[in-house]
Amino acid sequence: MSTQTQQQIIQEEPIAAIATPVGVGALAVIRMSGRGVPGIADKVFRKTGDPDFRAEDSKGFVAHFGNVYDREGMVDEVVALVFRSPNSFTREDMVEFTCHGGPVVVRHLLQALFDAGCRPAEPGEFTRRAFLNGRIDLLQAEAIGEMIHARSESAYRTAVNQMQGNLSRKLDALRQRLLESCALLELELDFGEEDVELQSRDDLRQQLMQLSDEVQKLVDSYRQGRLLSEGVATVIVGKPNAGKSTLLNTLLGEERAIVSHMPGTTRDYIEECFVHEKTMFRLTDTAGLRESDEEIEREGIGRSYRKIGEADLILYMLDISQPEWQQEAEVIREFHDTYGHAKLIVIANKTDLAPDSEERILKLREETGCNVAGVSAKRGEGIDVLLGLMGSMVERLDKLHEASVLVTSMRHYVSLRNAADAVENALSLLGAYAGTELIAFELRSALDYVGEITGKVVSEEILNTIFDRFCIGK
Ligand code: GDP
Repeated sequence: MSTQTQQQIIQEEPIAAIATPVGVGALAVIRMSGRGVPGIADKVFRKTGDPDFRAEDSKGFVAHFGNVYDREGMVDEVVALVFRSPNSFTREDMVEFTCHGGPVVVRHLLQALFDAGCRPAEPGEFTRRAFLNGRIDLLQAEAIGEMIHARSESAYRTAVNQMQGNLSRKLDALRQRLLESCALLELELDFGEEDVELQSRDDLRQQLMQLSDEVQKLVDSYRQGRLLSEGVATVIVGKPNAGKSTLLNTLLGEERAIVSHMPGTTRDYIEECFVHEKTMFRLTDTAGLRESDEEIEREGIGRSYRKIGEADLILYMLDISQPEWQQEAEVIREFHDTYGHAKLIVIANKTDLAPDSEERILKLREETGCNVAGVSAKRGEGIDVLLGLMGSMVERLDKLHEASVLVTSMRHYVSLRNAADAVENALSLLGAYAGTELIAFELRSALDYVGEITGKVVSEEILNTIFDRFCIGK
């Protein structure tokens, strides 16, 4: 950190963009960053009651009330907030104008700034500068993006946690230890012919085993991290006409899936999200489980089997009012054996049509050993109980990994897995009494993989893919 705060900030060319959503609102914020932006502000901004005011002479963190003018006259009343390098989000000089939130006002104000010397910012350019100037690391930059896009409380919390740098600190510590082992090995190599061991091979093995363990824990945390950031992948399966689309609509509260009386009309799968309490569920309605001659429908069924395998949670729905309801117990038992108790909830639908549904449900529970929720998807009855059951299943999934730091992004997961492999390779080489050079090589690549995550070692290509996903003004 200390080297970063002392780093000389090279201010880049001035950029400007709207930082709030485009549209009508009470207020909008336009931000500028880069070389000479206080001077650019001075070309357009007049502070009320202080004709001699110059943003260029202003201290940082101070707000000034006044008007913005262009060639034609007054544009709007604004609050100008000045930040002085390095104490700003980008570590460059920054000025933010809070103006009235109309699209035309914003366009005029931005145009005034472009005329005065700014260029329009690229998507993610402010955050990119914050990263390049060492204000935040790559993980924190990504966390800002995830926080903005978070659709559930849990996803938001995880992003905030990452933004605060908890994962970064953990990775930096890991990297430091790898670096020490690696440096000792490389030093040994520098001694050339002489047979020196600066670190006993037993100590090195101990070190690496511990490291491997910690990296693996992070790799494993991705499962839970993904549940939080992407939502719980939930599939609804069952025979045609069981009421799957109806349930989906009830859960989503709107008419999304096509509900029909003809068996086999949900040909493909549809994916929709909803948030219950703190958890986001990603719901997929699959094609009905039924032998079919139709080509398209068969493809749909094939896909639904794949989806079932990938799901975190399986909702098996049957029509409890049908005379043959008991025949499905066999299929449900098979599901139970294949996918396990922790993932499966049986939904006995159309309780409104079966007066003895409670007895049937009890029997189903006994025969299959599964959690069974009785509902009427059409009338919206029993949905609370079902949601409660889904929530407690997820809690159980969550408990599988009570890691304090979670990996939530595919990019981080892949780098960590590569790092774990490299450490494993180093351990095997060590076991085979391989040459120091080979072991050092594996540790060096593990180091690079970990460095890739926080941005210590990073290519332009990775930066572009990350920041291109941001919106303009971030
Ligand atoms: P899917 O093929 O499993 O997606 O089944 P649908 O959701 O298309 O439902 C098939 C039929 O059953 C439709 O006519 C629905 O209105 C009806 N249905 C679904 N749920 C219920 C329910 O709880 N009670 C009753 N009475 N009818 C239902």
